[in-house]
Amino acid sequence: MRGPPRRPYGRQMDEHFETVIIGGGQAGLSVAYHLARRDRACVVLEANERIGDNWRRRFDSLRLYSPARYDGLPGWDVPLDPWAYPTKDEIADYLEAYVERFELPVITGAGVDTLRRDGDRYVVRCGAQRFLADNVVVASGTFQEPIVPAFAPELDPSILQLHSDAYRNPSQLRDGPVLVVGCSHSGADIALEVASGHDVVLAGRLHGEVPFDIESRLARAVLPLLWFMANRVLTMRTPLGRKMRPEVRAHGGPLLRVKRAHLRDAGVERTEARVAGVRDGKPLLDDGRVLDVANVVWCTGFGKDVSWIELPVAGADGWPEQTRGVVESSPGLYFVGLPFLHAFASMLIGGVGRDAEHVAAHIAARAAEPAQPSSPMRGPTRVTSGVC
Ligand SMILES: Cc1cc2nc3c(=O)[nH]c(=O)nc-3n(C[C@H](O)[C@H](O)[C@H](O)COP(=O)(O)OP(=O)(O)OC[C@H]3O[C@@H](n4cnc5c(N)ncnc54)[C@H](O)[C@@H]3O)c2cc1C
Repeated sequence: MRGPPRRPYGRQMDEHFETVIIGGGQAGLSVAYHLARRDRACVVLEANERIGDNWRRRFDSLRLYSPARYDGLPGWDVPLDPWAYPTKDEIADYLEAYVERFELPVITGAGVDTLRRDGDRYVVRCGAQRFLADNVVVASGTFQEPIVPAFAPELDPSILQLHSDAYRNPSQLRDGPVLVVGCSHSGADIALEVASGHDVVLAGRLHGEVPFDIESRLARAVLPLLWFMANRVLTMRTPLGRKMRPEVRAHGGPLLRVKRAHLRDAGVERTEARVAGVRDGKPLLDDGRVLDVANVVWCTGFGKDVSWIELPVAGADGWPEQTRGVVESSPGLYFVGLPFLHAFASMLIGGVGRDAEHVAAHIAARAAEPAQPSSPMRGPTRVTSGVC
């Protein structure tokens, strides 16, 4: 399945930075912004050739579920009507423009292969290039490693299989019925989209649905309250937030834009049965039904791969162990952008800035000496490419 391209970074000499940020998505850029405001030097290493490509690669019809007023990174609102719902490409372009606007020091085409510790410094390896750092912020995203069930390869090869990560539009599908597995917002969006040309079964447990049209006038009254809850109430500081974190990390969310009624009206058959295995090369539901389909779209979520981090960061649940992004067992190591890192909103564009600020403040407090005058934060360096 798709991961960030692993390009060897072109230079050969070791370079030292006070802080290396791995990943130039919304999380990494927010940390870079807050470090710059504190006059701390850093560099952002981004595997993709272009900032925003992570969004550009998502399915063609994707429009955000959050209005522009909640999609802004620190210091600059998305330049759209605050109640507009940006397309994925508008957000990608916004991220790119954000780098330009704040002259953030980003190197693209620089996929990090390993991170390890050497004494009191970190060693970040990127192809033949090594970066030495006092601090490392891992902002490499969560929606990177598509998960499919172990039995997926047993399906008959005549059935086209795609993860939602690789799905772009209905033209990729073969003629014939489609099984969409996973009933969260991507699953519902894709099921509705393909229903115009295919018989569709959408399988999986529904985790509720937002009881209003997210683009309605009512939403304008309700969303500010939900946004407050997502940032201030559902946090690791409250019993409700602590109870919610494992749920959020393990399961999909409620339906947002596309609801049960839309699916029903479009003729999508929804079943709460789970896809449990394979019989005679066809998907088998746990209610005993065998589905004769030509396509399976797995909307079964993503995992976080930390195997390239050669440090014991994973906790009992497999997620990096951290407090508000700070890894206490490894001073100078930070994570930003994890689902429910501190609050429900931590994984959202408009919510990541608060965690980024906390991490940047921690780094600034940790730094014993002023930033290096020769650092790229002060020079004219903007987005540079690491392609050899
Ligand atoms: C389909 C979908 C719809 C969503 N809709 C919304 C929405 O409407 N509103 C909202 O607020 N949120 C939404 N989200 C959630 C979230 O905002 C996005 O997933 C967001 O992209 C996460 O940002 P991030 O910076 O943490 O990670 P990413 O955007 O994944 O960025 C991480 C970056 O790190 C880079 N990287 C990864 N590994 C390495 C490496 N080893 N070396 C160098 N670089 C690396 C990647 O190339 C990538 O650019 C959506 C998510 C999905 C999947």
